[in-house]
Amino acid sequence: MSQPLPPLPDTFDADLGLDLHMHSTASDGALSPQALTDICHAKGVTRFSLTDHDTVAGVAEAQHHAESLGMRCLAGSELSTLWRGIGIHVVALLPEGASGALIPGLEAQAQARVARAQEIARRLEKIGLEDALARAREQAGSERPLGRPDFAKALVAAGLVPDMPTAFKKYLGAGKPGDVKTHWPYLSEVVEWIRDSQGIAVLAHPLRYRLTHRKRSQLLDSFREAGGEAAELISGHQNADVGRDLARQLEARDLMGSQGSDFHYPGGPLAPGVMSAPPRCSVTPVWRHPRLARFAA
Ligand code: AMP
Ligand code: MN
Ligand code: MN
Ligand code: MN
Repeated sequence: MSQPLPPLPDTFDADLGLDLHMHSTASDGALSPQALTDICHAKGVTRFSLTDHDTVAGVAEAQHHAESLGMRCLAGSELSTLWRGIGIHVVALLPEGASGALIPGLEAQAQARVARAQEIARRLEKIGLEDALARAREQAGSERPLGRPDFAKALVAAGLVPDMPTAFKKYLGAGKPGDVKTHWPYLSEVVEWIRDSQGIAVLAHPLRYRLTHRKRSQLLDSFREAGGEAAELISGHQNADVGRDLARQLEARDLMGSQGSDFHYPGGPLAPGVMSAPPRCSVTPVWRHPRLARFAA
Protein backbone atom coordinates (compact mmCIF):
# COMPACT_ATOMS: atom_id res chain seq x y z
CA MET A 1 0.00 0.00 0.00
CA SER A 2 2.70 2.46 -0.96
CA GLN A 3 1.82 3.58 -4.51
CA PRO A 4 0.89 7.25 -4.97
CA LEU A 5 -2.88 7.63 -5.35
CA PRO A 6 -4.94 10.78 -4.79
CA PRO A 7 -6.04 10.84 -1.11
CA LEU A 8 -9.69 10.00 -0.49
CA PRO A 9 -12.01 12.94 0.29
CA ASP A 10 -14.30 13.34 3.33
CA THR A 11 -17.37 12.65 1.25
CA PHE A 12 -19.11 9.60 -0.20
CA ASP A 13 -19.24 9.28 -3.95
CA ALA A 14 -19.82 6.47 -6.41
CA ASP A 15 -16.96 7.94 -8.46
CA LEU A 16 -14.17 7.65 -5.88
CA GLY A 17 -12.73 4.50 -7.42
CA LEU A 18 -13.47 2.91 -4.05
CA ASP A 19 -15.39 -0.31 -3.44
CA LEU A 20 -15.37 -1.91 0.01
CA HIS A 21 -17.59 -4.96 -0.63
CA MET A 22 -16.93 -7.55 -3.36
CA HIS A 23 -16.80 -11.33 -3.85
CA SER A 24 -14.47 -13.73 -5.67
CA THR A 25 -14.25 -17.50 -6.25
CA ALA A 26 -13.03 -17.80 -2.64
CA SER A 27 -16.79 -17.64 -1.88
CA ASP A 28 -19.77 -17.24 -4.24
CA GLY A 29 -18.24 -14.79 -6.73
CA ALA A 30 -17.62 -15.76 -10.35
CA LEU A 31 -14.13 -14.24 -10.78
CA SER A 32 -10.83 -15.32 -9.27
CA PRO A 33 -9.26 -12.73 -6.95
CA GLN A 34 -6.78 -11.91 -9.70
CA ALA A 35 -9.46 -11.52 -12.40
CA LEU A 36 -11.55 -9.37 -10.03
CA THR A 37 -8.54 -7.15 -9.41
CA ASP A 38 -8.02 -6.84 -13.17
CA ILE A 39 -11.64 -5.71 -13.65
CA CYS A 40 -11.25 -3.18 -10.83
CA HIS A 41 -8.14 -1.89 -12.55
CA ALA A 42 -9.92 -1.60 -15.91
CA LYS A 43 -12.79 0.31 -14.29
CA GLY A 44 -10.62 2.72 -12.32
CA VAL A 45 -11.41 1.17 -8.93
CA THR A 46 -8.00 1.80 -7.39
CA ARG A 47 -8.90 1.04 -3.78
CA PHE A 48 -10.98 -1.94 -2.82
CA SER A 49 -11.64 -4.60 -0.22
CA LEU A 50 -12.21 -8.26 -1.08
CA THR A 51 -14.97 -9.38 1.30
CA ASP A 52 -15.74 -13.03 0.59
CA HIS A 53 -18.31 -14.81 2.75
CA ASP A 54 -16.72 -16.07 5.99
CA THR A 55 -13.19 -16.33 4.60
CA VAL A 56 -10.07 -14.32 3.78
CA ALA A 57 -8.75 -17.09 1.51
CA GLY A 58 -8.71 -14.92 -1.63
CA VAL A 59 -7.17 -11.84 -0.05
CA ALA A 60 -3.46 -12.62 -0.49
CA GLU A 61 -3.84 -13.25 -4.23
CA ALA A 62 -5.84 -10.02 -4.70
CA GLN A 63 -3.40 -7.98 -2.63
CA HIS A 64 -0.40 -9.33 -4.48
CA HIS A 65 -1.92 -8.55 -7.87
CA ALA A 66 -3.27 -5.15 -6.75
CA GLU A 67 0.18 -4.15 -5.56
CA SER A 68 1.70 -5.01 -8.94
CA LEU A 69 -0.90 -2.75 -10.61
CA GLY A 70 -0.41 0.21 -8.23
CA MET A 71 -3.76 -0.36 -6.50
CA ARG A 72 -4.64 -0.90 -2.84
CA CYS A 73 -6.50 -3.96 -1.64
CA LEU A 74 -7.70 -4.01 1.95
CA ALA A 75 -8.15 -7.43 3.56
CA GLY A 76 -11.78 -8.13 4.37
CA SER A 77 -14.53 -10.69 4.87
CA GLU A 78 -18.32 -10.71 5.06
CA LEU A 79 -19.33 -12.72 8.10
CA SER A 80 -22.66 -14.52 8.52
CA THR A 81 -24.34 -13.86 11.89
CA LEU A 82 -27.68 -14.08 13.66
CA TRP A 83 -29.56 -11.29 15.38
CA ARG A 84 -32.98 -12.09 16.91
CA GLY A 85 -33.33 -15.00 14.51
CA ILE A 86 -32.53 -12.88 11.43
CA GLY A 87 -29.48 -13.63 9.27
CA ILE A 88 -27.34 -10.47 9.36
CA HIS A 89 -24.08 -9.92 7.46
CA VAL A 90 -21.13 -8.02 8.92
CA VAL A 91 -18.25 -6.82 6.76
CA ALA A 92 -14.91 -6.96 8.54
CA LEU A 93 -12.42 -4.42 7.19
CA LEU A 94 -9.03 -5.73 8.28
CA PRO A 95 -6.13 -3.30 7.83
CA GLU A 96 -3.85 -5.73 9.70
CA GLY A 97 -5.33 -8.89 8.14
CA ALA A 98 -6.99 -11.61 10.21
CA SER A 99 -5.52 -12.27 13.66
CA GLY A 100 -6.53 -13.04 17.25
CA ALA A 101 -10.02 -14.44 17.87
CA LEU A 102 -10.96 -13.92 14.20
CA ILE A 103 -8.76 -16.85 13.17
CA PRO A 104 -10.60 -19.55 15.16
CA GLY A 105 -13.77 -17.59 14.34
CA LEU A 106 -13.29 -18.03 10.60
CA GLU A 107 -12.39 -21.68 11.18
CA ALA A 108 -15.71 -22.13 13.05
CA GLN A 109 -17.58 -20.39 10.22
CA ALA A 110 -16.08 -22.81 7.68
CA GLN A 111 -17.16 -25.77 9.83
CA ALA A 112 -20.61 -24.22 10.27
CA ARG A 113 -20.89 -24.04 6.48
CA VAL A 114 -20.09 -27.75 6.21
CA ALA A 115 -22.77 -28.72 8.76
CA ARG A 116 -25.21 -26.26 7.22
CA ALA A 117 -24.65 -27.58 3.69
CA GLN A 118 -25.46 -31.09 4.94
CA GLU A 119 -28.69 -29.83 6.47
CA ILE A 120 -29.63 -27.84 3.34
CA ALA A 121 -28.93 -30.96 1.26
CA ARG A 122 -31.19 -33.09 3.52
CA ARG A 123 -33.99 -30.59 3.12
CA LEU A 124 -33.62 -30.26 -0.66
CA GLU A 125 -33.55 -34.04 -1.06
CA LYS A 126 -37.04 -34.04 0.49
CA ILE A 127 -38.28 -31.83 -2.32
CA GLY A 128 -36.72 -34.04 -4.97
CA LEU A 129 -33.08 -33.00 -5.46
CA GLU A 130 -31.24 -36.35 -5.23
CA ASP A 131 -27.60 -36.29 -4.06
CA ALA A 132 -28.03 -32.60 -3.33
CA LEU A 133 -24.65 -32.18 -1.64
CA ALA A 134 -22.71 -33.71 -4.55
CA ARG A 135 -24.67 -31.62 -7.04
CA ALA A 136 -23.97 -28.39 -5.12
CA ARG A 137 -20.29 -29.32 -4.94
CA GLU A 138 -20.25 -29.84 -8.69
CA GLN A 139 -21.75 -26.37 -9.21
CA ALA A 140 -19.18 -24.81 -6.88
CA GLY A 141 -16.44 -26.30 -9.03
CA SER A 142 -13.91 -26.27 -6.18
CA GLU A 143 -13.48 -27.38 -2.58
CA ARG A 144 -14.39 -23.99 -1.09
CA PRO A 145 -17.18 -23.88 1.53
CA LEU A 146 -20.64 -24.17 -0.05
CA GLY A 147 -23.30 -21.49 0.01
CA ARG A 148 -26.93 -21.27 -0.94
CA PRO A 149 -26.13 -20.08 -4.51
CA ASP A 150 -24.46 -23.46 -5.17
CA PHE A 151 -27.67 -25.24 -4.17
CA ALA A 152 -29.70 -22.76 -6.23
CA LYS A 153 -27.61 -23.61 -9.31
CA ALA A 154 -28.04 -27.33 -8.60
CA LEU A 155 -31.83 -26.90 -8.48
CA VAL A 156 -31.72 -25.09 -11.85
CA ALA A 157 -29.38 -27.70 -13.39
CA ALA A 158 -31.72 -30.50 -12.24
CA GLY A 159 -34.64 -28.75 -13.91
CA LEU A 160 -36.55 -28.31 -10.65
CA VAL A 161 -36.73 -24.52 -11.10
CA PRO A 162 -36.26 -22.35 -14.20
CA ASP A 163 -33.70 -19.92 -12.75
CA MET A 164 -31.77 -18.72 -9.67
CA PRO A 165 -34.32 -16.12 -8.51
CA THR A 166 -37.01 -18.82 -8.52
CA ALA A 167 -34.71 -21.19 -6.61
CA PHE A 168 -34.37 -18.58 -3.85
CA LYS A 169 -38.02 -17.59 -3.97
CA LYS A 170 -39.27 -21.17 -3.61
CA TYR A 171 -36.57 -23.04 -1.69
CA LEU A 172 -33.60 -21.04 -0.39
CA GLY A 173 -34.75 -17.52 0.46
CA ALA A 174 -35.70 -16.23 3.92
CA GLY A 175 -38.16 -18.56 5.63
CA LYS A 176 -37.94 -21.29 2.95
CA PRO A 177 -36.85 -24.90 3.68
CA GLY A 178 -33.26 -24.40 2.46
CA ASP A 179 -32.70 -21.21 4.48
CA VAL A 180 -30.69 -22.74 7.34
CA LYS A 181 -29.39 -20.01 9.66
CA THR A 182 -29.07 -21.83 12.95
CA HIS A 183 -25.37 -22.52 12.51
CA TRP A 184 -24.30 -18.86 12.62
CA PRO A 185 -22.99 -17.20 15.79
CA TYR A 186 -24.66 -14.23 17.39
CA LEU A 187 -23.97 -10.78 15.90
CA SER A 188 -22.18 -9.49 19.00
CA GLU A 189 -19.80 -12.46 19.07
CA VAL A 190 -18.69 -11.86 15.49
CA VAL A 191 -18.14 -8.15 16.18
CA GLU A 192 -15.89 -9.20 19.07
CA TRP A 193 -13.77 -11.38 16.76
CA ILE A 194 -13.36 -8.46 14.35
CA ARG A 195 -12.34 -6.08 17.12
CA ASP A 196 -9.86 -8.61 18.43
CA SER A 197 -8.32 -8.64 14.95
CA GLN A 198 -7.83 -4.82 14.99
CA GLY A 199 -10.56 -4.69 12.35
CA ILE A 200 -13.53 -2.41 11.76
CA ALA A 201 -16.97 -4.03 11.92
CA VAL A 202 -19.32 -2.69 9.23
CA LEU A 203 -23.00 -3.68 9.13
CA ALA A 204 -23.51 -4.95 5.56
CA HIS A 205 -26.39 -3.69 3.34
CA PRO A 206 -28.73 -2.52 6.17
CA LEU A 207 -31.57 -2.00 3.70
CA ARG A 208 -31.62 -5.58 2.43
CA TYR A 209 -33.07 -7.31 5.49
CA ARG A 210 -36.65 -6.11 4.87
CA LEU A 211 -36.77 -4.51 8.33
CA THR A 212 -39.10 -1.72 9.36
CA HIS A 213 -37.48 1.63 10.23
CA ARG A 214 -37.98 0.80 13.90
CA LYS A 215 -36.49 -2.69 13.71
CA ARG A 216 -33.53 -1.32 11.71
CA SER A 217 -32.98 1.24 14.48
CA GLN A 218 -32.88 -1.60 17.00
CA LEU A 219 -30.42 -3.52 14.86
CA LEU A 220 -28.16 -0.46 14.57
CA ASP A 221 -28.37 0.05 18.35
CA SER A 222 -27.44 -3.58 19.03
CA PHE A 223 -24.62 -3.41 16.52
CA ARG A 224 -23.24 -0.18 18.03
CA GLU A 225 -23.48 -1.61 21.54
CA ALA A 226 -21.58 -4.72 20.45
CA GLY A 227 -18.71 -2.55 19.19
CA GLY A 228 -19.71 -2.12 15.54
CA GLU A 229 -18.34 1.13 14.16
CA ALA A 230 -19.87 1.59 10.71
CA ALA A 231 -22.65 0.51 8.35
CA GLU A 232 -22.88 0.47 4.57
CA LEU A 233 -24.51 3.78 3.69
CA ILE A 234 -24.41 2.80 0.01
CA SER A 235 -24.72 -0.83 -1.10
CA GLY A 236 -25.13 -1.48 -4.81
CA HIS A 237 -28.31 0.05 -6.14
CA GLN A 238 -30.68 1.31 -3.47
CA ASN A 239 -33.78 3.46 -3.17
CA ALA A 240 -32.90 7.14 -2.64
CA ASP A 241 -35.63 7.87 -0.07
CA VAL A 242 -34.73 4.92 2.11
CA GLY A 243 -31.05 5.80 1.68
CA ARG A 244 -31.74 9.25 3.17
CA ASP A 245 -33.60 7.63 6.05
CA LEU A 246 -30.64 5.32 6.67
CA ALA A 247 -28.25 8.30 6.68
CA ARG A 248 -30.31 9.92 9.48
CA GLN A 249 -30.16 6.66 11.46
CA LEU A 250 -26.35 6.54 11.16
CA GLU A 251 -25.98 10.23 12.06
CA ALA A 252 -28.12 9.75 15.17
CA ARG A 253 -25.84 6.95 16.39
CA ASP A 254 -22.53 8.41 15.29
CA LEU A 255 -21.90 5.36 13.13
CA MET A 256 -19.48 5.79 10.24
CA GLY A 257 -20.58 4.93 6.69
CA SER A 258 -19.10 2.64 4.07
CA GLN A 259 -19.74 2.13 0.36
CA GLY A 260 -19.55 -1.03 -1.73
CA SER A 261 -21.14 -2.71 -4.73
CA ASP A 262 -21.53 -6.26 -3.35
CA PHE A 263 -20.37 -7.36 -6.80
CA HIS A 264 -20.55 -11.15 -7.45
CA TYR A 265 -20.41 -11.73 -11.23
CA PRO A 266 -20.05 -9.81 -14.50
CA GLY A 267 -23.05 -9.34 -16.76
CA GLY A 268 -25.52 -8.42 -14.01
CA PRO A 269 -26.66 -4.97 -12.88
CA LEU A 270 -23.55 -4.50 -10.72
CA ALA A 271 -19.88 -4.06 -11.48
CA PRO A 272 -16.92 -3.17 -9.27
CA GLY A 273 -17.31 0.43 -8.14
CA VAL A 274 -20.92 0.64 -9.35
CA MET A 275 -23.39 1.83 -6.73
CA SER A 276 -26.09 4.42 -6.10
CA ALA A 277 -25.30 8.09 -5.50
CA PRO A 278 -24.92 8.94 -1.80
CA PRO A 279 -27.64 10.79 0.12
CA ARG A 280 -26.81 14.28 1.36
CA CYS A 281 -25.62 13.70 4.92
CA SER A 282 -23.03 14.36 7.61
CA VAL A 283 -22.09 10.70 8.11
CA THR A 284 -18.32 10.24 8.49
CA PRO A 285 -16.81 7.95 5.83
CA VAL A 286 -15.28 4.80 7.31
CA TRP A 287 -12.02 5.57 5.45
CA ARG A 288 -11.56 8.43 7.92
CA HIS A 289 -11.15 5.77 10.61
CA PRO A 290 -7.63 6.16 12.09
CA ARG A 291 -6.84 2.52 11.32
CA LEU A 292 -7.57 3.11 7.62
CA ALA A 293 -5.37 6.22 7.36
CA ARG A 294 -2.75 4.46 5.24
CA PHE A 295 -5.37 2.99 2.92
CA ALA A 296 -7.03 6.41 2.41
CA ALA A 297 -3.90 8.57 2.16
P1 AMP B 1 -25.16 -17.97 2.02
O1 AMP B 1 -23.91 -17.16 2.24
O2 AMP B 1 -24.89 -19.42 1.80
O3 AMP B 1 -26.21 -17.71 3.08
O4 AMP B 1 -25.79 -17.47 0.65
C1 AMP B 1 -26.18 -16.11 0.55
C2 AMP B 1 -25.84 -15.57 -0.83
O5 AMP B 1 -26.83 -15.99 -1.74
C3 AMP B 1 -25.85 -14.05 -0.92
O6 AMP B 1 -24.62 -13.51 -0.54
C4 AMP B 1 -26.12 -13.83 -2.37
O7 AMP B 1 -24.91 -13.92 -3.10
C5 AMP B 1 -26.99 -15.01 -2.76
N1 AMP B 1 -28.43 -14.68 -2.79
C6 AMP B 1 -29.21 -14.36 -1.76
N2 AMP B 1 -30.48 -14.16 -2.16
C7 AMP B 1 -30.49 -14.35 -3.49
C8 AMP B 1 -31.49 -14.31 -4.50
N3 AMP B 1 -32.77 -14.02 -4.19
N4 AMP B 1 -31.13 -14.55 -5.77
C9 AMP B 1 -29.86 -14.87 -6.07
N5 AMP B 1 -28.86 -14.93 -5.17
C10 AMP B 1 -29.17 -14.68 -3.89
MN1 MN C 1 -22.99 -13.82 -1.89
MN1 MN D 1 -24.48 -10.04 2.21
MN1 MN E 1 -21.75 -9.62 -0.10
